[in-house]
Amino acid sequence: MAGVTPQPLVARVAALRDVFGRQFGAAPTVVARAPGRVNLIGEHTDYNDGFVFPIAIDRDTLVAARPRTDRQVRLYSDTLRRASQWSLDAIEPSRDQPWSNYVRGLTRFLEEEEVALPGADLAIASSVPLGAGVSSSAALEMAAGTALLALAGVEMEPSTLAMLCQRVENQFVGVNSGIMDQFISGLALADHALLLDCRSLRYEHVALPADHVIGVADTGVKHGLVASEYNARRVECDEGVRRLQEVLPDIRALRDVSPEHLATHATLLPERVARRSRHVVGENARVLAAVDALRNGNLAAVGELMYTSHASLRDDYEVTVPELDVLVDAARGVRGVVGSRMTGGGFGGSTVTLMERRAASQWERSVRRAFRERFGRPPATFITAAASGAGLVLS
Ligand code: ADP
Ligand code: MG
Repeated sequence: MAGVTPQPLVARVAALRDVFGRQFGAAPTVVARAPGRVNLIGEHTDYNDGFVFPIAIDRDTLVAARPRTDRQVRLYSDTLRRASQWSLDAIEPSRDQPWSNYVRGLTRFLEEEEVALPGADLAIASSVPLGAGVSSSAALEMAAGTALLALAGVEMEPSTLAMLCQRVENQFVGVNSGIMDQFISGLALADHALLLDCRSLRYEHVALPADHVIGVADTGVKHGLVASEYNARRVECDEGVRRLQEVLPDIRALRDVSPEHLATHATLLPERVARRSRHVVGENARVLAAVDALRNGNLAAVGELMYTSHASLRDDYEVTVPELDVLVDAARGVRGVVGSRMTGGGFGGSTVTLMERRAASQWERSVRRAFRERFGRPPATFITAAASGAGLVLS
């Protein structure tokens, strides 16, 4: 089925207030929202100190909250229809309700940052698909973080909250993810993408062209080897840096290597490490080139950079699967499509496609037809604009 357009925000907030009232017998005092994300270009660059270029999607997670005075937290997810409860004096990860760990970890780390939480009733609703590679986890963390800070009456820079949420995911939930997801969920500006330097965390908002939208097509494929292959790539990148340091002693990461330097010294590297490095070095250059091209209104160049990124992830980094390749090839044939590529870690997940608004329905038809012909089932697809970042919707 084609992606269902979510209900307007007011209707979703009203529905969540009803859920909250049924669960907790009172009205929430705050409601916060935070979006999911999709990365336009810059894949497998984050852990190489490089550049990424995501947008926030117009699917978001809402968290309604009300303070308690007894240091208890009661959490209900309307998405999962599950509840969980803990005391702020004994915050431990839960084995039977692992989904609650994103919020448990937040309460632990906020307390450690001296944010005095009184206890809370919290209810979650979301239009972000879970586990589809558009970061429902960061949307949950950032929405819950925004709501909890409001209850505590504490203001925090969105970038500081993003780093705290990343820590929750890395150290409390146990997922080794970069900073991109939380950062874009917190700092996105509507109709803009965000150029983020993953080393310095400096960022810039870059306007997207009017009358264009972004299509996301989910292969529905989730390979068990994602984690082991991801770790293997990280090791290969580290090896590339180590060997290149023999001739380039000042480099700290592949981010510091130019395409010219790499071409000159590629013979120092084992063949596979050379290809992995070529992807990362080239991808960083492509992100910056895409930003320049967007600023100059050269959309054709942006599109070519997206296709080149995909080819590099397929041939040099070897993280695509046929399902992703079919979706990109099908998008390429559609009039009004600017560019298309896999997005996320790979081995399944989704593609991202930048296109003219009027191309959207033809893109959906074409990728669904091509995918169904080859794999016997349709991919999940949706169209989004670039949305704004986390905030309170009711205070
Ligand atoms: P992604 O971030 O790509 O969607 P993850 O595996 O990182 O995938 O995060 C998905 C997990 O986050 C879910 O399995 C669940 O534990 C938690 N989660 C996200 N959104 C919600 C929600 N609305 N309600 C409860 N748990 C959620
Ligand atoms: Mg996630």
